[in-house]
Amino acid sequence: YSRKIESALISVFYKDGLAPIAKLLHEQGVKLYSTGGTQTFLQNLQLPVTAVENLTGYPSILGGRVKTLHPKVFGGILFRREEAEDQSQVKEYDIPSIDLVIVDLYPFEETLASGAGEEDIIEKIDIGGISLIRGAAKNFRDVLIVSSRNQYADVESLLREKNCTTDLADRKKFAALAFEVTSHYDTAIFNYFNNEAEIPVFKQSLSQTKKLRYGENPHQAGYFHGDLEAMFEQLHGKELSYNNLVDIDAAVLLINEFEGDKAFAILKHTNACGAATASTVKEAYLKALAADPVSAFGGVLITNSAVDKETAEELNKLFFEVLVAPSFTEEALQILKGKKNRILLKRKEVALPSVSVKTLLNGVIRQDIDNRTESPADLRSVTQREVTTEEKDALVFAAKIAKHTKSNTIVLAKKGQLLASGVGQTSRVDALRQAIEKAKSFGFDLQGAVMASDAFFPFPDCVEIAHKVGIQAIVQPGGSVKDQDSIDYCNSNGLAMAFTGIRHFKH
Ligand code: 5GP
Repeated sequence: YSRKIESALISVFYKDGLAPIAKLLHEQGVKLYSTGGTQTFLQNLQLPVTAVENLTGYPSILGGRVKTLHPKVFGGILFRREEAEDQSQVKEYDIPSIDLVIVDLYPFEETLASGAGEEDIIEKIDIGGISLIRGAAKNFRDVLIVSSRNQYADVESLLREKNCTTDLADRKKFAALAFEVTSHYDTAIFNYFNNEAEIPVFKQSLSQTKKLRYGENPHQAGYFHGDLEAMFEQLHGKELSYNNLVDIDAAVLLINEFEGDKAFAILKHTNACGAATASTVKEAYLKALAADPVSAFGGVLITNSAVDKETAEELNKLFFEVLVAPSFTEEALQILKGKKNRILLKRKEVALPSVSVKTLLNGVIRQDIDNRTESPADLRSVTQREVTTEEKDALVFAAKIAKHTKSNTIVLAKKGQLLASGVGQTSRVDALRQAIEKAKSFGFDLQGAVMASDAFFPFPDCVEIAHKVGIQAIVQPGGSVKDQDSIDYCNSNGLAMAFTGIRHFKH
């Protein structure tokens, strides 16, 4: 179903790059129609061109808002070349055939980015151009659409090769590109109008559905909506379960905090039971495992660095459900594939949602993802003894883990190693007691360790208990009416404490 182009409508905002393709069309005997600025540009190239005004009998009006919106233009694009009735109407109303449409839209996004005012931005919402693109793309059976100046080079070589003839497959491909252009364009406009986010948006495509074996428990049905394959390549093991996905999600969000360091984390039921940074992945793994080798059994493991043979040999001694890594060496894979069910996932870089949504009562609640990450510069010492540079590093490490642990939580750490945490407790004191007991049961000496809390201390009890076991530095958001009681206690006992001002509840 090939088609020879005999006429073209060209209406482009940026004229750069248009000359070669316009000249080619002229050489091939294609009749050119064009709008104001584009017409002047083509005439300056000595190309014969018919103004679209001559076709419509209307000038460009309303400051360019209405240029091409006319039945003669849209009829010429949209008529079905092989339908008798369309043919007779086209004849009756003297509508010319338009076989090729070249449009480059008003630069809405660039105008927005330039910091222009509202009036200017609104004027850059293209009306006729977007309609021309939609019309020509819809009628891809007969018409070729070029919807962006980025496509000129490809189209020029296509037309040169085939003497201005195109196949249905060519036209359909350019129609698909056209709808990509228009949907991107309208999304940018939508985002501008929806800047208060009153209309919920979830940018991830949920068009794919994967039926899971079951939900959280075997009597619950479970599904994943989205494109898992875009994010992970499964190299080995059984099918991912609902609970695996929940843990992998928590693992990914946690490990994302440690950009720049080689990090390893072990999660159970969305909480880290081990996490560490080190100069090698193997060392990071061993330090993570040491925090709680009991809980690590059946855990979800994640690292931000390549898994090598040495690490694989260590990992192979542990029974675990899932290991996520950006890459694995061939030797590491051979070792890890020894266990049939073990799930090995190679993670790809994809953008994650910026909002989270969950059903609640008779509706849903939605919020922005907690994307505030503490850095040493965010820590403000509030005690007479200031936190040292070294303590700051350990505190930031602990705060990152606390952010990704169920509230109420207390995280105890030394530089680059989680020692223990109390997770999901109904009081902060309980969380601290749990953490202390755990750390001791796995043989850690808490002398010189640091402590992070996801939220402020309502009473000085936590700093007192921490001090008694040897904790020397503390980080917390601050903001309690009784902050001063905790500060006073620290000052009387030589502890250093920093506030971040950022709470990280996670429920
Ligand atoms: P020109 O520089 O040729 O005068 O204008 C070209 C621009 O006008 C292109 O970016 C095209 O998308 C846009 N355009 C074409 N027809 C219309 C119309 O009827 N209304 C509006 N708002 N823009 C149009």
